[in-house]
Amino acid sequence: MEKTDTREEKILVLVRLRPPNEKEIAANEPTDWECLNDTTLLYRRNTLRHSSNFPSAYSFDRVYGGECPTRQVYENGTKDIALSVVKGINSSIFAYGQTSSGKTYTMSGITEFAVADIFDYIFQHEERAFSVKFSAIEIYNEAIRDLLSSDGTSLRLRDDPVKGTVVEKATEETLRDWNHLKDLLSLCEAQRKIGETALNEKSSRSHQIIRLTVESSAREFLDKENSTTLMASVNFIDLAGSERASQAMSAGARLKEGCHINRSLLTLGTVIRKLSKGSRQGHINFRDSKLTRILQPCLAGNARTAIICTLSPARSHVELTRNTLLFACCAK
Ligand code: ADP
Ligand code: MG
Repeated sequence: MEKTDTREEKILVLVRLRPPNEKEIAANEPTDWECLNDTTLLYRRNTLRHSSNFPSAYSFDRVYGGECPTRQVYENGTKDIALSVVKGINSSIFAYGQTSSGKTYTMSGITEFAVADIFDYIFQHEERAFSVKFSAIEIYNEAIRDLLSSDGTSLRLRDDPVKGTVVEKATEETLRDWNHLKDLLSLCEAQRKIGETALNEKSSRSHQIIRLTVESSAREFLDKENSTTLMASVNFIDLAGSERASQAMSAGARLKEGCHINRSLLTLGTVIRKLSKGSRQGHINFRDSKLTRILQPCLAGNARTAIICTLSPARSHVELTRNTLLFACCAK
């Protein structure tokens, strides 16, 4: 965490298998996936039909089986990345996977653990004055909505010469304490649900970004002009269901709708692939989608990134699981 030059740092790729749900258990759905060890996932059902293009072992920075609690997923790796925000380093943690694979479950747990640790850090560092701001937006069909406001209008992006791309008029709340966080998270959840009744299945098609911006200055220099202020953001991103990206790419899909819905998801894939090739500088098309524009400062340059790919264990989901793993392989 002391490291400030992280340009060479790779994207941390974690894979999490969820346990079978009641429906899958009731239907006796077999599970063909197994964690061999901390870093290897095994596909156990390599029939002749599949074996040629279907690897049986997949390695990542970390893999987690169905019995593994979110706390553990948070502790190995994502904790460091989330906490780098207090040192002035931007970061992003994504959940990527098909609908029902556990993205929201994983990301909401991780967000809470991270905020608790950020508060702890602040409590232990009285020599600095901190402020923590919270904002939450949703991107649906390339339209941006404020999840802290009931006003349904879409928000616009603006290029600020200093801050880069900013979401205009997005509500920013200064976080007071733990209860305040819980209130804001339930408000976001309620706002996301309202959208859902208006349009079925919306949550599987929208991206949610929760952003914490932490600013701090050394107290002894507070009144002086050149006090060293640190400011950075950490983003918790619950992505749209990855089945949308697969559909958009498959021939015969409702192409226009698919492409539009998924521009953000597809562009993210391209951006992540380029970032994973090493250089966080170079030419990367952040401007091709709202999601990547908003996240650009937290993906490019001196920023840290983790992607948690969530998987369903069910045999009936094997194709989507495989697509998620292909994405995960491209990111590492
Ligand atoms: P997604 O956001 O990817 O559509 P959810 O996070 O809503 O999926 O998860 C679908 C269901 O599975 C939810 O009921 C959730 O509580 C449950 N679930 C997901 N992951 C886990 C897990 N690792 N352990 C236990 N239950 C899980
Ligand atoms: Mg979800």
